[in-house]
Amino acid sequence: MRRLTKIICTLGPTAGTPRLIEALAKGGMSVARINLSHGTWEEHRKTIRIVKALNKTLASRGKLPSGIGILLDTQGAEVRTGKMAVPLKIRRGELVVFSHKPVKNERKQVVIVDHDKFAQDVREAERVLVDNGKMSLELVSVRKDGSVVLKAIEQGVIGSRKHINLPGANLDMPSITKNDWISIKNAADEGVDFLGLSFVRKAEEVEEVRRYLTKRGKHITLVAKIETRQAMECLPEIIDASDAVMVARGDLGSEIPFEKMPVAQDDIVRLSRKAGKPVIVATHMLESMIQNPLPTRAEVTDIAHAATCYTDLTMLSAETANGAHPLKALDAMDRVLRETEAHLAKSSRMLTAEIRTERDAQAEAAVTQAISAGAAAIAVMTRTGQTAREIARFRAHLPVIAFTPDASVQRALALSFGVFPLVTPFKNDPETTVVAGIALARKAGLLKKGDRFILVTDARTHEDNVSTIQERKV
Ligand code: PEP
Repeated sequence: MRRLTKIICTLGPTAGTPRLIEALAKGGMSVARINLSHGTWEEHRKTIRIVKALNKTLASRGKLPSGIGILLDTQGAEVRTGKMAVPLKIRRGELVVFSHKPVKNERKQVVIVDHDKFAQDVREAERVLVDNGKMSLELVSVRKDGSVVLKAIEQGVIGSRKHINLPGANLDMPSITKNDWISIKNAADEGVDFLGLSFVRKAEEVEEVRRYLTKRGKHITLVAKIETRQAMECLPEIIDASDAVMVARGDLGSEIPFEKMPVAQDDIVRLSRKAGKPVIVATHMLESMIQNPLPTRAEVTDIAHAATCYTDLTMLSAETANGAHPLKALDAMDRVLRETEAHLAKSSRMLTAEIRTERDAQAEAAVTQAISAGAAAIAVMTRTGQTAREIARFRAHLPVIAFTPDASVQRALALSFGVFPLVTPFKNDPETTVVAGIALARKAGLLKKGDRFILVTDARTHEDNVSTIQERKV
């Protein structure tokens, strides 16, 4: 059976070559993510172009007709350590100075931070976490020169450009920084499919980016990354304002107590599915595979848990970006998702979802009919992708083939659970479009001769075109 949960792979130093990107595409990557927290725009542009060239080649060979989507993930309002030649080794209980500016005649070890209001914001924080919580420190004092003395709660190492979290603090910097606006402009100029908005705190921030893009006549699918306490507090509004959502567990897991993380993940996935917005479970899914060729038991169970909650996508970060086994990590994720989906299919044919509109009711009817007919797939004609997303809300255990005339809609649908989008020009006569679509689906291996499928399409009557649900056979 086809895997319905999609996979995002982060590209980076070890996963930036055309050969490896192609291997990841063949291994089941639906979306390539570029993390703007690392590297230069020139490097990112090169990677974007490699993926676009690959999409052309694969399409011309009749493979992967929907191509690989490109997700640019902005840096956002994050605090990082400065560049350092050698990592600092810190002893338990050691006092360490954190400062935005170099500190003269300092006998303690000094960590430079890239946030000029660090001394002010640190006062609100419960503690200071470095590198996703690998080290935690507590505040001792804030000095007159703006440097901050922290005490290491345990021993550890602080390296270059490591992320710093201040849980409990509302950072005094805009969620979308000056640097992010440059990235957003670059993303629009380069024509990427998805934009990950880091450290979003309220819905207005997402709306602001959308207004900016609309003014420039651009559309990019906006993915709100949920990784702050403030975002958790206004989750429904943020989901509503966004096109898709990411459970960014790296930072969220530092911002909230770790025992609250699983429930937060389930809430974000549940509310996103309810709203019909694709949702991604991200970070630390196969962390041990950065070094090791096999996953831990806990990691495979974590992936299975995400699939059991019916997330649309799971994501690999450093595992593919700079790990020793990028293809093995992808293979492990793929295998666990397939196995879990096959298991789930035995007990649940579809989920329930709130019926908000007539179209939701039609989507539910199409899914119910597909299940009772033992259909191989549900096919849908969709101009904007909305009908396909409505069907995906029910998480039926069968593929949804989405025919759309618009290549950008096709790529946006790469984020939706079980949706396999194909570009098909829409003709005046709906049946002509259906015939062409079925031929494409057969070529892509989504349908074969003799398959029964449910088709959601317009049909021509004497007066008008009407919306129908039909049972068909290839
Ligand atoms: C995360 O925090 O989980 C995340 C995806 O963001 P980043 O990789 O930019 O830290």
